[in-house]
Amino acid sequence: MPNSSLQPTPISAPKIAIIGAGLTGLFTATLLERAFSQMNEQKINDKSSIPEITIFEKSRSVGRLATRYRSDSLTDKNWQWAFGAQFFTAKSASFQQFIEPWLQTGLLQPWCAQVVSLTPMSANNQKPDIHLKEQWGSTQARYISTPKMTSWGRALADELQHSTIKFNTRVAPLAGYKQTLANKISNKTELFDENGNSLGHFDWVICTVPNGQAVELMADSGFSEYVKITEPTMQACYSLMLGWNENQPLPEALSRLDTAWDVAYVQDSIIDRIFIEHYKPEHHALLPSMTIHARNDWSEQHVDDDIDTIKAQLLAAAKRALNWNTESAPSQVDCHRWRYAATVTASHKEQLGVLVDDERQWIVSGDWCGQGNIESCYQIAAQTVAVIV
Ligand SMILES: Cc1cc2nc3c(=O)[nH]c(=O)nc-3n(C[C@H](O)[C@H](O)[C@H](O)COP(=O)(O)OP(=O)(O)OC[C@H]3O[C@@H](n4cnc5c(N)ncnc54)[C@H](O)[C@@H]3O)c2cc1C
Repeated sequence: MPNSSLQPTPISAPKIAIIGAGLTGLFTATLLERAFSQMNEQKINDKSSIPEITIFEKSRSVGRLATRYRSDSLTDKNWQWAFGAQFFTAKSASFQQFIEPWLQTGLLQPWCAQVVSLTPMSANNQKPDIHLKEQWGSTQARYISTPKMTSWGRALADELQHSTIKFNTRVAPLAGYKQTLANKISNKTELFDENGNSLGHFDWVICTVPNGQAVELMADSGFSEYVKITEPTMQACYSLMLGWNENQPLPEALSRLDTAWDVAYVQDSIIDRIFIEHYKPEHHALLPSMTIHARNDWSEQHVDDDIDTIKAQLLAAAKRALNWNTESAPSQVDCHRWRYAATVTASHKEQLGVLVDDERQWIVSGDWCGQGNIESCYQIAAQTVAVIV
């Protein structure tokens, strides 16, 4: 019997590793599958040209799309917070076309939020000042995934046909060039997990992790574009999650009859934006829930501070912004630190685009190679596919 593991894999059936199951990784797998199946349709139905894609994800879930919920034992209802990305845009025609099937099913929904500008209470205790700013959708649509922000990632993962996702698998830094050459079988790269176990040999390795983590993965690998990985700066973000009990009075800034709002851009504060979760489409069954994002520059300055101190500072800022008293103070308070949240893009600089080492067949990508948002994950994934197919 021939040992099949020694048989060279046909060049037309590449084995592809994707590091990271965030949206960049999931979009890349989806678009790769589509591109290969289109190629197959144009030729005879040649099974060997179907790629074998493995996505390695160190956590249990899908990247910076994150949802946290907590159940109230009294009412059996939930508080829920999208404490990572809150919404996304679809400005390009190609991304609009890509999201269309999920808009049809209702998994993705436009969020026509009423947006206000909010100046918190001043030192002499004047009430927060709230002005209507815009309604989303009037010029540029924003979308959310329902019932949770994570639902879209899970749907993308479920629809993959030739890809396997290995959760709880942290890929170890890629080996140096000489060592890699020695380990190479038919020009493939061998990946390992953090315990030194082999994860297999791959024709292409696509790394989609935030650039701070890509630096660690590629540091001693000899990746030809290594220097460029360090170019974009990513800043931190603290997310504060608040909840109120059923029938509890809400803070004054929320219960004004004259200005109903869904999203507030906060001025003169360490808080940047406030999002009311239970006002979002398909979220009305939730208990009153609110996600607050701190300013990125403030978060970055305090990225290594004690999380309880940060929570107390954000809570005090939220109280000034929302104006609660003992009765209307939130009953639920939680705080999360995102070490790599937002890409700082210098407007005069061109976006990096995907970084390719042709010789090793390694690609480094991620939202930070574009504008640092969900739409750029798609653009970056499309660029990656254009390199491989
Ligand atoms: C607080 C916050 C608010 C945001 N708001 C918005 C918004 O309103 N609109 C918008 O469009 N975008 C927003 N974003 C940005 C958006 O979330 C990102 O652009 C997008 O999720 C990035 O996806 P990604 O796949 O490139 O990276 P990630 O989602 O970070 O995915 C990378 C994955 O790689 C995994 N990983 C890392 N190292 C390894 C390893 N060694 N082995 C295996 N796996 C590894 C990580 O666990 C992670 O799951 C926000 C982000 C944050 C944090």
